[in-house]
Amino acid sequence: MKHYLDKEFKHKEKLKQELLDKLDLFWDILNTPKKISAVIVTSDYSEGGHTTNSEHYTGEACDVSISCDLMKGYSAARKAGFINIGLYPKFKGLHLGIRKHQDLTERRSWIGLGVDKNQRYVPFTQANIKKYIGGL
Ligand SMILES: [Zn+2]
Repeated sequence: MKHYLDKEFKHKEKLKQELLDKLDLFWDILNTPKKISAVIVTSDYSEGGHTTNSEHYTGEACDVSISCDLMKGYSAARKAGFINIGLYPKFKGLHLGIRKHQDLTERRSWIGLGVDKNQRYVPFTQANIKKYIGGL
């Protein structure tokens, strides 16, 4: 990888190469010459602690925190080709996932309002973005 150190991941060997490639691309898109944003991996492969059938259990997702605003991060994540994107305003963090759906054109986004396992999810709508994230 170009932009991340092996030690940033807990189980890098279990992550899909496509995920790692997209994480590098995400960093490239976010870090134009004028705008620099730190991207810190906060969770990668794991065997528990996420929702049922989580992409984290198959090496298809990472959680990251970013130093720029979340909607900029969201936009960069879409451009990088992530399919499932969760926004976590309490952490300034994103869930970035690559698992495809039956309908290959389907993209999923959500907003997670809680902390750790006490999550409350709301739909990714204009109204909720305005209410919980801002920056539109
Ligand atoms: Zn996640």
